[in-house]
Amino acid sequence: MTTSSDGEGRGDSAPAQASGGAGTSVSELMVHAYAMEAEAAERYAEFADVMLTHNNVEVAELFRKMARIENLHAQQIRESQGWTSVPAPSGGAYHWEGLEAPETADHGDLHYLMTPHHALQIARRNEERARLFYAALAERAESVEMREAALEMRDEEAEHVRLIDEWLARTPAPEKGWSTDLDPPNYHD
Ligand code: ZN
Repeated sequence: MTTSSDGEGRGDSAPAQASGGAGTSVSELMVHAYAMEAEAAERYAEFADVMLTHNNVEVAELFRKMARIENLHAQQIRESQGWTSVPAPSGGAYHWEGLEAPETADHGDLHYLMTPHHALQIARRNEERARLFYAALAERAESVEMREAALEMRDEEAEHVRLIDEWLARTPAPEKGWSTDLDPPNYHD
């Protein structure tokens, strides 16, 4: 579904790293979790700003709230690991799976064109990915504490998916051709 042509391999890192790779240690997974939460917080703050350009104050508020929650997650992870500085993830930085960009498109333009419906769909994909990540982390947890923490995170991400679904249900899809250039060929809904 997502074919990234930018060579960063975006979109295929989270579940694969969480569930596969026997050599992946829990501490590496926590580094990954931190990167995931920190990027989610950043993206949500951006999305909130873009929603205001669409005069969608409600969805902007939803995204601001999500940004706060994901920031809090990042902070919790940092504290639980006792990091004084944040370790860089090995095996490539984490990236949110976003809109498919034509090679010429600037990311700023993409965000500007993003409608509330699109933003919610992107958010949903990434929340679901986070949920799967924590479910996999819970399975691999080396202690009861870590397992419980992972399960708690998983449940919170599941709640985010549910929240976004609610908003998707009441946010109309954009008209066809809102931006023909940005529609990947196999995109349908
Ligand atoms: Zn979330």
